[in-house]
Amino acid sequence: MHTPAGKECPYFYGDYYRGRNHEECRLLPEWQPKLCITCPVPGIHLANACKYMTLTAEVRRPFFVFPPEVQISAYCKKSQKAVTEPHIGCGECHMLPKIFTGESLDPHNNASD
Ligand code: SF4
Repeated sequence: MHTPAGKECPYFYGDYYRGRNHEECRLLPEWQPKLCITCPVPGIHLANACKYMTLTAEVRRPFFVFPPEVQISAYCKKSQKAVTEPHIGCGECHMLPKIFTGESLDPHNNASD
């Protein structure tokens, strides 16, 4: 379902049937529509649809002059560890290419030989 910010989000629910106008975020109990504008969840969901990753959200205000924004923490139920980069995942199921892990790409320069 599309959020008020126009992005697809699995946690957004809107009921507009027969004149109703009920909207809610099923991840954030203290939700306000303007939080969807900068929320990272739609982007995370687009980049990484891992079924083992669970998201936890809270609203924080980085500095008192800035508006509140959604902060996400992620946890992998399979590897049972925190996911530091939810857009990518923990790396347990989907191994990162060597170019991202810093391992040598040269097959003759293998440290395990
Ligand atoms: S605040 Fe984030 S998680 Fe909640 S409905 Fe909006 S985009 Fe989705």
